Amino acid sequence: MRKDEDFSEWFDRVILEAQIADDRYPVKGFTVYTGWGFSIAKRIIGLLEDKLEEGGHQPMQFPVVIPEDSFMREAEHIAGFSGEVFWITHAGDRKLERRLLLRPTSETAIYPLFKIWIRSHADLPFLMHQTCNVYRYETKATRPLYRGREFLWNEAHTAHADYGGSEGQVRKAVEIYSHVYDQLGLSYLILKRPDFDRFAGAVYSLAFDTWNPDGKVNQIGTVHELGENFAKAFEVTYEDERGKQRHVSTTCYGMGIGRTLSATIAHHGDDHGLVLPPVVAPKQVVIVPIPFKGSEEAVAGYAREIEGLLKGDGLRAVLDDADRLRPGEKFYRWEMFGVPVRIEVGPREVEERSATLVRRDTLERSKAELGGIVEAVRGLFDEIYLSLRDRSWRRLEAEIAEADSLEELRARMDERRIVKVNWCGGPDCASKIKDEVAGEVRGTLWEREEEPTGPCIGCGGAAKEVAYVSRTY
Ligand SMILES: [Zn+2]
Repeated sequence: MRKDEDFSEWFDRVILEAQIADDRYPVKGFTVYTGWGFSIAKRIIGLLEDKLEEGGHQPMQFPVVIPEDSFMREAEHIAGFSGEVFWITHAGDRKLERRLLLRPTSETAIYPLFKIWIRSHADLPFLMHQTCNVYRYETKATRPLYRGREFLWNEAHTAHADYGGSEGQVRKAVEIYSHVYDQLGLSYLILKRPDFDRFAGAVYSLAFDTWNPDGKVNQIGTVHELGENFAKAFEVTYEDERGKQRHVSTTCYGMGIGRTLSATIAHHGDDHGLVLPPVVAPKQVVIVPIPFKGSEEAVAGYAREIEGLLKGDGLRAVLDDADRLRPGEKFYRWEMFGVPVRIEVGPREVEERSATLVRRDTLERSKAELGGIVEAVRGLFDEIYLSLRDRSWRRLEAEIAEADSLEELRARMDERRIVKVNWCGGPDCASKIKDEVAGEVRGTLWEREEEPTGPCIGCGGAAKEVAYVSRTY
């Protein structure tokens, strides 16, 4: 199973064998998260929700249906999403007087309530989030976790007294998302999307883009400055200190849980299967007894002793003492599931009061005394995390190339790289790049000025910025 030779085949096999997701649900674009996958997803959600709530966001859960008249209030938003909306038109055999839609994102569900809740400056800033499924009738090819017609995400919505407040929140959102991706050992670029690709109704959009082994960039999160656009469409106003009615300034940001999970799988996995960062591994340590004739009892007892020590310290440990598989088969199985550390115990370990540790990322073996086993395992967790994170960032750096001409850009695209080009900022040149080299202008680095080194790659005119071009999901 060669990950780098045929990523697509590798991914399909891993998500099925490691029980991440099952794409055989009989509706196209709708995927089932299975046990191991949803356990990881819940831990990713937990990391994010903790951080959001620490930052003052209240958890909420809005209805999945939005009435048509709410959806129709913000013109750009309608233009951006209406082609992808699932409509509910009937209940039984009765036609609904008021059509409902399944949320493709929740601004138009949430703002009518913001209008009711937000009265005065004392109510601001107002920060909420929810983890939920959203629905978009994607016409591009669907792929489990990467692109579905139903997808699991967390979305946050915030309202502030003025634009300065929402700008500050954009920075906080970037920090929160960076913190979560960092904990997962994921590398990313933070790009400001070109104007033609911003969120429908936003002033501007930022996105976290990351590499994928097949060369298609994976957008794992977005942050949008909405200014007063939605506040005006939904008449969300408050009374300021001087008694004057003013519009709030708002933001929203979303993290795709499926995409973040797919990036975690794609960045860290290897030819044996998943490799999980310990923080999200449903089981962090597996203990495999290796009994010999006559030593079965002693080995089993010792393995249970180790299990007790690890669990007593709060580690997610599992003792695989099932008789039906041989130790080698168990190794293979738990490697597929990406369990960060395996502990092997046989008669020699019993005698020495020690254990053999195998780390999943490098498959290197080491020994630990029983008395120091918890520290040894925790030490390996740190090493695994740092090594995965460094490897992911090194790969991102290696993926980035430069091109000065469309021919060169085409060659780099064929190598499936992420390519920096000089760009005039014109949408026509972005279309030309898309048509001629099948690459998309993803945007420019956020808050890091990069000086163009020559004329625009599309028109030969003066370049204003350095744009990142890639294939994409
Ligand atoms: Zn140009």
